[in-house]
Amino acid sequence: MERSADTLEAGRTSAAEAFAILGNETRVRTLLALWESEEPSSFATLRRTVAPDDKGNFSYHLGKLTEHFVEKTDDGYVLRLAGEQVVRAVLAGTIVDNDPLPADELGERCVYCGGRAEMSHDGERISVRCTDCAGVVGREFPDGTYMHYGFPPAGLVGRTREEAVDAAHVLYDSKLSPMMKGVCPECAGRVSLSFDVCDDHHVEESGLCPRCDTRFSVWARYECDHCKYDRNAAMWFAALNHPAVIAFYHDHGFDETIPFRKLTWENAEYVREITQEVIDTDPYRFRVRIPIDDEAVVVHLDERLDVRSVERE
Ligand SMILES: [Zn+2]
Ligand SMILES: [Zn+2]
Ligand SMILES: [Zn+2]
Repeated sequence: MERSADTLEAGRTSAAEAFAILGNETRVRTLLALWESEEPSSFATLRRTVAPDDKGNFSYHLGKLTEHFVEKTDDGYVLRLAGEQVVRAVLAGTIVDNDPLPADELGERCVYCGGRAEMSHDGERISVRCTDCAGVVGREFPDGTYMHYGFPPAGLVGRTREEAVDAAHVLYDSKLSPMMKGVCPECAGRVSLSFDVCDDHHVEESGLCPRCDTRFSVWARYECDHCKYDRNAAMWFAALNHPAVIAFYHDHGFDETIPFRKLTWENAEYVREITQEVIDTDPYRFRVRIPIDDEAVVVHLDERLDVRSVERE
């Protein structure tokens, strides 16, 4: 069954109501109390914890929460999925202070040129940029950027800069993988795929093409129809998940899962030489060639980025 635009519109209306419900301190404290409680809470326990002096209103506030965020079970009150998600989202951002982490040198070299790489965190996003080449994307990013995405500050706790970058790669994979399969990792909604294609792509010595201002000629844009969560990735990422391509990498001595788990300057040859081209535009057909040593694997993909064929040459 396909949901209609009306259903989506109704969803947005109820989202507005849901936000309105959260605009009250007693209710937010109730969510946190339920989060901290290991078992379902009775009305009396909750009221004692959250609003001991409140005589009449607590029941009203709790009633509001049961519309979206809290469920009343036979054993007591528990958080619903949306309630857990709200608390988790808040905790991810506030478990540590959001002070920026200034740029400093990484103990790893740039994947693309072997130059000096530095990492920073602006309180919400982690960035890695190269001080010697143009990185992967120009546009609105600082020179040399090759990693820049949302990474909650909780991810910095107890990790070195290098470990935080590894964790960010793992997180990135874990968001992109379901999107490649059409499922939004944030809301489970349907994901649409579109392409940014540079018609006259040529990479200059800096590493970027002056026309599209990026390193790669085709970008896949994944966007959730429902919550608008989106991710951009070089089109060729989609080829790397095919078992025959994974086997090809394994045959050549690469034993980390890709894309981009533990990609370092030392093993960057495994992605640096990849080329991608548009074979047809209506519908889209793509060809990705991945050479390692004196062998290559050639992958054909369709407009959904499903792999149509894989051949070694
Ligand atoms: Zn570089
Ligand atoms: Zn270009
Ligand atoms: Zn979504």
